[in-house]
Amino acid sequence: MTSAPNTYDAEPIPPEARQEIDRLLQSGDLFRYTALQDAPVARLETEFAAMLGVKYALAVSSCSAALFLALKALDMPRGARVLFPAFTFAAVPSAIIHADCTPVPVEVDDTLRIDLADFEARLDDGADAVLISHMRGHTSDMDAIMALASARNIPVLEDAAHSLGTKWNGQDIGTIGKIGCFSFQSYKLINAGEGGILVTDDPEIAARAVIMSGAYEHAWKKHPGVEEHCARWQNRLPLYNMRMQNLSAAVIRPQLAHVPRRVADGRRNHDYVAARLNGSPLFSVPAALPAEARAPDSLQFLLNGFSADDARSFARAADDLGVSVQIFGLSRDNARAFWNWKFIEDMPELPRTRAMLMRACDLRLPARLTMAELDFIADAILQAGELILPQTQPRPQIAS
Ligand SMILES: *Cc1c(COP(=O)(O)O)cnc(C)c1O
Repeated sequence: MTSAPNTYDAEPIPPEARQEIDRLLQSGDLFRYTALQDAPVARLETEFAAMLGVKYALAVSSCSAALFLALKALDMPRGARVLFPAFTFAAVPSAIIHADCTPVPVEVDDTLRIDLADFEARLDDGADAVLISHMRGHTSDMDAIMALASARNIPVLEDAAHSLGTKWNGQDIGTIGKIGCFSFQSYKLINAGEGGILVTDDPEIAARAVIMSGAYEHAWKKHPGVEEHCARWQNRLPLYNMRMQNLSAAVIRPQLAHVPRRVADGRRNHDYVAARLNGSPLFSVPAALPAEARAPDSLQFLLNGFSADDARSFARAADDLGVSVQIFGLSRDNARAFWNWKFIEDMPELPRTRAMLMRACDLRLPARLTMAELDFIADAILQAGELILPQTQPRPQIAS
């Protein structure tokens, strides 16, 4: 029998990173703007932009920093209303507040995606920008979102922190809206401990973000293609200093080549466990949208017919069997449960999102897991469900 798989450890960093890190340690050249050219951060930006087929990339200290700079780069008035899906990580409304904007949450339904009717209603209440967070890689209907927002001339930003490698109609998520932001924090597809990157095709936005990220004096001359735009913004923007340093880029760059494999393995793992869980009436895994090709490194599934107590007992039973399952709405102080965002003034009640969070489970499923480990995980979840709500016994039908 396989023992409980470790779903927390990251993959080792590719060994090529060592040589570059050693070179940087020898020379002490850690600041991105010291070298005249080809600093590791600059090379990462060029490579990342080429990988996604976008014009500009700006590497920064985190995805939260990228989201903040993206909002600032739009040059909106103080208090601008920014729509975002209410199922996301606390960092998203935090970035909106940090940028002096007003966070306007939109309902998310049992598909884990934005509720388009509520989205349209919130757009019509008045919105200055839309920040779509593809939470856990679940892509909301980008065709509908882009159509509704463009019709009102409202810019769409994408929080693709956890969506690197996800495609929408064959196009990379994060390149559909005006600006896309990705994370290199350890729990994402590329692991640098911390880090983020912003991508856009708009030179004016890129230039503003470059300067505000901390390209002071004429450091922006080391960002190809935006010099003219940066020259116009010289000394007119605050410097928030959210730069990436060279060691991070040295850790990230050799991982870029591993993205296709991680995506393929992650999808294989996800779809295998999803099919097994969907075989039980107790669980449902939201399907990908037809236009979406996912790049998952975790699996979210909904509990069918469990009371809150049943759900807690189920999580405990799974834990006893060696598999950690977190129920977003039932784990204490969960940073993805909107009612815990007490830093937002006048946070509205969102009944659909709340109902979803009370039955939505989160399971880590890293790309490196073996088939035997996947079976161990699926067996444990199915067994834990069966312990709480035995399927051989008739049970009262609870509408979901
Ligand atoms: C991780 C994550 C973030 C924040 O990324 P950081 O790089 O840690 O700032 C934002 N949004 C989503 C959906 C995330 O998963």
